[in-house]
Amino acid sequence: SSSASKLQRNPLFSSLEPRDVSFFNEILGGEKYVVQDEERLETANTDWMHKYRGSSKLMLLPKNTEEVSQILKYCDSRSLAVVPQGGNTGLVGGSVPVFDEVIINVGLMNKVLSFDEVSGVLVCEAGCILENLATFLDTKGFVMPLDLGAKGSCHIGGNVSTNAGGLRLIRYGSLHGTVLGLEAVTANGNVLDMLGTLRKDNTGYDLKHLFIGSEGSLGIVTKVSILTQPKMSSVNLAFIACKDFLSCQKLLVEAKRNLGEILSAFEFLDNNSMDLVLNHLDGVRNPVSSSGNFYILIETTGSGETYDREKLEAFLLKSLEQGLVSDGVIAQDINQASSFWRIREGITEALQKAGAFYKYDLSLPVEEIYNIVNDLRGRLGDLANVMGYGHLGDGLIEPYVYEWTSKHRGSISAEHGLGVMKANEIFYSKSPETVALMVSIKKLLDPKGILNPYKVLPHSFFSP
Ligand code: FAD
Repeated sequence: SSSASKLQRNPLFSSLEPRDVSFFNEILGGEKYVVQDEERLETANTDWMHKYRGSSKLMLLPKNTEEVSQILKYCDSRSLAVVPQGGNTGLVGGSVPVFDEVIINVGLMNKVLSFDEVSGVLVCEAGCILENLATFLDTKGFVMPLDLGAKGSCHIGGNVSTNAGGLRLIRYGSLHGTVLGLEAVTANGNVLDMLGTLRKDNTGYDLKHLFIGSEGSLGIVTKVSILTQPKMSSVNLAFIACKDFLSCQKLLVEAKRNLGEILSAFEFLDNNSMDLVLNHLDGVRNPVSSSGNFYILIETTGSGETYDREKLEAFLLKSLEQGLVSDGVIAQDINQASSFWRIREGITEALQKAGAFYKYDLSLPVEEIYNIVNDLRGRLGDLANVMGYGHLGDGLIEPYVYEWTSKHRGSISAEHGLGVMKANEIFYSKSPETVALMVSIKKLLDPKGILNPYKVLPHSFFSP
């Protein structure tokens, strides 16, 4: 990548030596946990998009917090830079080394520690895969407050570290609200026990928030306590075609007004995104017959089987009559519902199959969202295929251009974070004073800067 290739390795960091490997073998209990195998390292060095590649010679797999603490304490004393890695599904190059940083993956720390069926509070280790947590909760009649296309691989620790948004944010809010506590280890090996399970605890600075969304730059998250929600018996999903973006916006307003208490997702994609998925993924077909220019997925989740369905049907009918919607279907069963979701969730995968792509993850005021796609189409002409899709319900979309976004008071990273891709772009979304405080906090918690260097903060911070 262009932004990563301009970076220089910080010469203050040590290089890995055989004695380091011996030390890790000793504390972790053998080679099984101290990975030097080239093939496995190749995978761990490469990000999900195959856009960023590091050259780490070592991946460590700690089994508990104590081991994470010992690893970090040692790396800090030796000035060995590290990169915390979860499921490695991040989309901004944050989860892979830029140079030879030691990869620390907490994937073996994957136990559920407790679940309270009264409060819905789940406490688990950071390496639990999101989908496994969802499956566990399903047996208890609960759901995770977040869901994303990468659920089969991403870790809850990675989700917390990126403050992942995802498909249910419109209903359950962000992780800053649902994460009740966490345990994290800072660079010097200090274990911070902030693993509260209370919804209310106003005793001083709420430091857990520093670790939510800090992309492994302040510490390694080792445990998470999160508020889950009772599973509702009735979930309905409609796939809708709209002729223009204005109709999509109006539909969102109407959906909030008419389906408010049961609305759980409002996702949008344009015709180009639909074509992409149809062309690159097997077994996908367009559920609506009349092709629109835009498509919307509306999911409702509630407790009244008949009531909810009737409500959604009536909403759809009314929207058809008003001309907001040109066509629409409601999934008849769970298989059909998954095939609808497959279209929206498959876009990232289809992009990867289609070849080189620039993927931006922006948030903008809803009325501005599609203008950026149109402006870019004009600017790029035949040079590129510009497509827009995203979580419209909370004002998000994923096309590009930082200046445009900044000018319209959007955020240059809605959900995916800054990683290495956007670290230098931070000033588009944050004031110099705010970035200066971030730098101070980073220096306080990680004085030698060994934790996920070259990420999040502007590159100038990392030049010695
Ligand atoms: P990784 O990719 O391994 O790491 C991400 C960052 O977190 C890195 O900076 C890493 O250093 C840090 N990190 C990881 N684990 C820890 C830890 N235990 N302690 C400290 N730091 C850690 N994101 C959204 O927000 N919304 C979406 O809807 C969404 N959809 C996606 C769909 C697909 C198909 C894909 C591939 C990705 C999607 N993402 C989405 C990106 C999202 O950021 C990640 O999927 C997820 O949150 C990262 O989890 P992970 O375990 O894979 O972390």
